[in-house]
This record gives sequence, C-alpha cells and structure tokens, in this order.
Amino acid sequence: MKYFKQNSVIIFLLLFLYPLNSDAQDYTMQRQSMVETQIRNRGIRDASTLRAMRQVPRHLYIPENQQRWAYEDRPLPIGYGQTISQPYIVGYMTEIIKPKKGYRVLEIGTGSGYQAAVLAEIVDHVYTIEIVEPLGLTAKAILDKNYENVSVKIADGYYGWEEFAPFDAIVVTAAAEYIPPPLIEQLKDGGRMIIPVGSPFRVQQLMLVEKKGDRVSSRSLMPVRFVPFTSGD
Ligand code: SAH
Repeated sequence: MKYFKQNSVIIFLLLFLYPLNSDAQDYTMQRQSMVETQIRNRGIRDASTLRAMRQVPRHLYIPENQQRWAYEDRPLPIGYGQTISQPYIVGYMTEIIKPKKGYRVLEIGTGSGYQAAVLAEIVDHVYTIEIVEPLGLTAKAILDKNYENVSVKIADGYYGWEEFAPFDAIVVTAAAEYIPPPLIEQLKDGGRMIIPVGSPFRVQQLMLVEKKGDRVSSRSLMPVRFVPFTSGD
C-alpha cells in the first residue's frame, strides 16, 4: 500500500510538472536530434562547432510564428525579406574557419543573430554588422542578453569594421557579386574568410578565401543560395 502511494505521488508530480516544461524539453530534444542528423551525420566533425550548436537555442533567434520549425532542415524567414540560414550551412561555415578560443571574428549579415551566437560560444569576440536596422536591433537585444563577447553594429558591412581589424576570420552571410576589398584588407595574415559569391537570387558559390602574406587564394566549396549583399549607397 505504501509503495503504491509513493508511486502515485511521483506520477502526480510528473503529470503536473511535465506540461510546464514540455516546450523547452521538446526544443532541447529537437535540437540534439538536429545536430545528430543534419550536422554530424553530414560530416561536420569539429567538436567545438557541434558543442555550440547543441547549446544555442535556435528557436529563440527567430520570430515566434516560425519557432515550431526552428530545428527543421531549411532556412526560415525572419522578416524584411531576409532568412536565417539552414542549420547545416551554419555548421559548415563555422567549422571551415577553424574557430578557436583567442579568435576575433567578423560577421557580415547579423540577421537573426544565430550564427553570431554559435561563433560566440567558441571564439573570444564576435563583431557582427547588419544593414537592416530593425533586424540588427532585435538580434542585438537577444545577443546582449546571452553574451558579453558579441558587438553588433548597424552599418553597411562592405566596409568591414576597421576599428577592430584585423580579424582571425570573417564570415559573410549574404551573397556578394565580388569579394569586398576592405574585407580582404581586414583579414589577418593566415586568416580565413567564408563568403557566398554570385548574382542575387541565382545559385552562388560558397568561397573560402585564405590570406598568406601578400597572397590571397580562394576556392569554391559548394553551390549555395543566399540573400543578396545589399549596399547602403
Ligand atoms: N547570419 C544570419 C543570416 C542572415 S541573412 C543568421 O544567422 O540569421 C543575411 C543578412 O545579411 C540579412 O539580414 C541582410 O539584411 C544582411 N545584409 C545584406 N547586405 C548587407 C550589408 N551590406 N551589410 C550588412 N548586412 C547585410
């Protein structure tokens, strides 16, 4: 009889507590499964990238009416005609710059702030620039709440962020017609930049740019489709 009572107390507590927690638990489970199936199983093996993506609550970086799709295998609209990249692309672009503690990274195209958060889990400081003011301000609010090592600026990212240059790595998340020379300038010797290059609304090439002394080399990694790099001019 006593045993039965104890069990009913536990069952009662579980029934009572479960609904309170279910959303958060559900998103945590969806996130772990997203990292396994979409990121790790497709070949992203950098431990710090996987850890960061298991950690950052992607659903909190997108508008409420989109949150239930946060962990699906696709980009999602974030307003103003912009999108948060597909999780795999975020994992790929993070791993390829070989992020480490001690690094200072520049991101062009803050958007939702999600890519900046993933980087901030790994490197010392993330500087991120967004051209659409309301997007930049929304992202800044959530990034400020969660990270002390992210700086957000509303500006045209074409010109980089001279004041904090040079950067160990640069991540560009909007497709440019060509690689902006100021960004190459602001890349550290030995640094890496990842950038989609090509015409707006057509298939572009994700390019890896490496700077070694005076030599700048670049190679295409894969076809991608990003929103266009716009100019404030
Ligand atoms: N990294 C983002 C992806 C956002 S999509 C994320 O994780 O959600 C690309 C973003 O680049 C858009 O928000 C767009 O407004 C911004 N963008 C386009 N051209 C830009 C420019 N010249 N300077 C800064 N941001 C720019």
